[in-house]
Amino acid sequence: MTEGSTPVKAKKRPRELAVVNQSGCTGCEVCIEFCPVDCILTVPGPDYDMHKKLVEIDLDVCIGCKLCVKYCPWETIEMIPSGEALQIAAAWTQRSVLPNAEWIRTSGAEVVEEGPLPLPGSKVH
Ligand code: SF4
Ligand code: SF4
Repeated sequence: MTEGSTPVKAKKRPRELAVVNQSGCTGCEVCIEFCPVDCILTVPGPDYDMHKKLVEIDLDVCIGCKLCVKYCPWETIEMIPSGEALQIAAAWTQRSVLPNAEWIRTSGAEVVEEGPLPLPGSKVH
């Protein structure tokens, strides 16, 4: 460690993490109600359609409790071994609001910044 630098505390990941397959997500938000650590986030719908949002899970916060998997009515959340979860999440994510997440930085997932969304056809500045 160099002088003056902040020690980085290694974080132990759970054995498995919950990953949403967004292609099956209806945006019902049932999973959000059950997550004890509030790590399930809504993201805009696939076409900026605010009437059909999707959700994603912040894998840096998930504790692997499986409650979301148990209660998702559409069975579109799976528990994935932690070592594979980042990669699987990248493949299953269509939209994300987690621009700084490790797996987002290395994936082709489209990052959507939080805040007001542009109207369809308008330009973002
Ligand atoms: S496994 Fe538990 S902590 Fe992780 S997203 Fe699902 S409900 Fe939240
Ligand atoms: S419960 Fe399932 S379908 Fe509903 S928002 Fe969560 S992941 Fe999507």
